[in-house]
Amino acid sequence: MKITHVLSQIVELPADEPLADGPQVPGATRPFVLIKIATADGAEGIGVTFFGAAMTRTLKQAVDDLGALMIGMDALATERIAQKLRDACSSAGPQGVFTLAISALDTALWDIKGRHLGQPVAKLLGGHRDKVPAYASGALMRQFTLKEVETAGRKLVDRGWKAMKTQLALPGHTTPEIEVNRIKVLREVIGPDIQLMCDINQRWTTYQAVDIGKRVEPYNLHWLEDVTRADDFQGLATVTAALKTPIAGGEYVWGIEPFRQMLERRSVDIAMIDLVRVGGITQWMKVAGMAEAFNIPVVSHLIPEVHVHLIAAIPNGEIVEYMPWCRNLFEAPPIPVNGEMTVPTSPGLGLAFTRAFDQGFRKA
Ligand SMILES: [Mg+2]
Repeated sequence: MKITHVLSQIVELPADEPLADGPQVPGATRPFVLIKIATADGAEGIGVTFFGAAMTRTLKQAVDDLGALMIGMDALATERIAQKLRDACSSAGPQGVFTLAISALDTALWDIKGRHLGQPVAKLLGGHRDKVPAYASGALMRQFTLKEVETAGRKLVDRGWKAMKTQLALPGHTTPEIEVNRIKVLREVIGPDIQLMCDINQRWTTYQAVDIGKRVEPYNLHWLEDVTRADDFQGLATVTAALKTPIAGGEYVWGIEPFRQMLERRSVDIAMIDLVRVGGITQWMKVAGMAEAFNIPVVSHLIPEVHVHLIAAIPNGEIVEYMPWCRNLFEAPPIPVNGEMTVPTSPGLGLAFTRAFDQGFRKA
């Protein structure tokens, strides 16, 4: 299983919001780096990474540089490869472009592993379930007006979603009363039985998190997410201890070790693991195992087409975030039906880039 090629290309997709046909900024796009790894015996695996933003070309270059170090290595030796790449770039990580790059490479190696063994990645990693719940994400954003959020919430319920996420820490003039009212109105629109999550994206102080967090308790949020800075483990623990609502966090955590700090301090009730910031499937599974030891459920962040395998694999996997940013990269990707995703049964990740993007590797 000698690696012969590591190919990459940058692809931009329109920044659309298809779940509830939400408002869209004309011309706005999201950039991705797509990768493909090929071996001497004809095996192939794919991966994707993002969060490069204005440094997306740098991210592609990092993928190419790391990929060059993998040529000739055994594609099945994921830990040996990761060690080599880490050693070669020891002062360039773990936070930032290095980890974003290695994540996509590791994901593609797991795809190869699954295809080689004829099994879906979910089964290789544990095969706990064949279906997982998913929630709608990205349709109830803070930049939308309250009216837009009401309309979108109603549409999501009509379209069969059982769980959905909104955001607080509203832009422009806001007060605790305005913040709370948004949750109150949304809860009235969607009814009492829908799981409603709320993301703060690190924008509150610990004081605001406790204050507004207590005021929204009557509206039965399923979780409050990233209520304050992700590296303020003690501050998060204070909020987590003060509120009845479960606190989720972890998407902004890089690599595996900070998760240990987060879990040991009981900073969160629910661990959210981001595939590209944690370092790929290999590292994602280690964090999931740590969380299990702390009796903490795991949820995923973005890229549901890969995360469906991971959440399905583990005993403490709760729900997949369905944010369809990557959906149009793939030919016939898994899509939730009535708030549930079925794990692909074909070998590897069960994913293929669309014909046009697949052909793009030749030109890249
Ligand atoms: Mg979030």
